[in-house]
Amino acid sequence: MPVTLNAEQKMISLMAKDFARKELEPNAAAWEKNQTFPIDAVRKMGGLGLLGMMVPTEYGGSGAGAVSYCLALQEIAYACASTAVTMSVANLSTEPLLKFGSEAQKEKYLSRLASGELLGCFALTEPSAGSDPGSLQLRAEDRGSHYLVNGTKIFITHGGYADVVNLIARTGQDKGNKDLSAFIVEKGFPGFSVGAKEDKMGLRASNTVELIFEDCKIPRENLLGKLGQGFKIAMTALDSGRIGIASQALGIARACMDEAVGYARERRQFGKAISSFQAIQWMIADMATGIEAARLLTLSAARKKDQGVPFTREASMAKLFSSETANRVAYQALQIHGGYGYTKEFKIERLARDARATTIYEGTSEVQRIVIAREVLKV
Ligand SMILES: Cc1cc2nc3c(=O)[nH]c(=O)nc-3n(C[C@H](O)[C@H](O)[C@H](O)COP(=O)(O)OP(=O)(O)OC[C@H]3O[C@@H](n4cnc5c(N)ncnc54)[C@H](O)[C@@H]3O)c2cc1C
Repeated sequence: MPVTLNAEQKMISLMAKDFARKELEPNAAAWEKNQTFPIDAVRKMGGLGLLGMMVPTEYGGSGAGAVSYCLALQEIAYACASTAVTMSVANLSTEPLLKFGSEAQKEKYLSRLASGELLGCFALTEPSAGSDPGSLQLRAEDRGSHYLVNGTKIFITHGGYADVVNLIARTGQDKGNKDLSAFIVEKGFPGFSVGAKEDKMGLRASNTVELIFEDCKIPRENLLGKLGQGFKIAMTALDSGRIGIASQALGIARACMDEAVGYARERRQFGKAISSFQAIQWMIADMATGIEAARLLTLSAARKKDQGVPFTREASMAKLFSSETANRVAYQALQIHGGYGYTKEFKIERLARDARATTIYEGTSEVQRIVIAREVLKV
């Protein structure tokens, strides 16, 4: 069923587009080249309500909902994919608090996360636990007034700038998903530090780091939800997060197509614009079709979330299809640029590197297929 946008959703999309074109796009290439994390722009996005879009107004968020979030994130990604992954993770980091937090935790953190005063991150991945959270080794031991945490998280988006970490840790002796719990960690807690930064292929303005916990003391009141609910909390957060990554991929794909169309109209070979060749036209037709299908899948998942009905299957479908589409579109757009596409002179080279991560994080394409098949087969 088509998703009709209301006046507020259109207004939010335009506001995000205006911000992104003025504040992000002119700087995106330099930030990427110099690996500059755009902290000032991120704080401004908080001021515009873009970091707490699922947070209701009574907790200081914009309460704009998932469809608006998806539209706004696309516009941010179109201009700067690195900033878009931060917007996605910042919004994701409010979900565990919203769904599982105590009233005191919501009061303490939510409005400050939504306004951008605090930046939140999400720490699940470890060296031995990527697709399989059941292999998590970071351990939190109950010491009465506090939990004592030891272990390492890796690949944590904007972990070096985050004020608050949603941490998933093992709290029992069992292996697998059962003994995991979630905690809220503040950056000043003793024993918590930021480790090495990844030197990545793309999204180089996004700060991807290791988080180190050495006898880190987390106060008892910072347990999020109930003991043993960590896996459920992480998967709930990732369902929403996948709508974000689908939107990010869509924004990148749209930018790639626009670059390809512009270049194909300008570039002349055999006495004609290359856009007159059917081979080029077919690539552009495939790009436009893939992007439209990804847009509809992503909006449909977002609408289900806004309606409060289950959306796990739709979020995984949207993430799978949009991210695979973004990669296909990026490589076709690069192909249309010929040799120039393979140089740093043209934007498509950066967009193709940025697109690559979208089929990997928040569950690889293979993991999305596992989720979708499980939902379809009910196994
Ligand atoms: C830029 C970036 C940012 C990230 N940000 C965060 C973050 O903020 N927080 C966080 O917690 N993590 C983050 N991650 C980590 C990311 O979520 C993991 O990299 C991802 O989940 C895959 O885990 P892995 O890298 O260990 O790969 P592995 O799990 O080792 O997978 C390797 C390969 O095996 C395949 N595979 C694994 N299991 C199966 C299976 N059962 N069936 C079929 N194929 C399988 C995978 O699909 C993949 O192709 C980030 C990663 C990147 C690159």
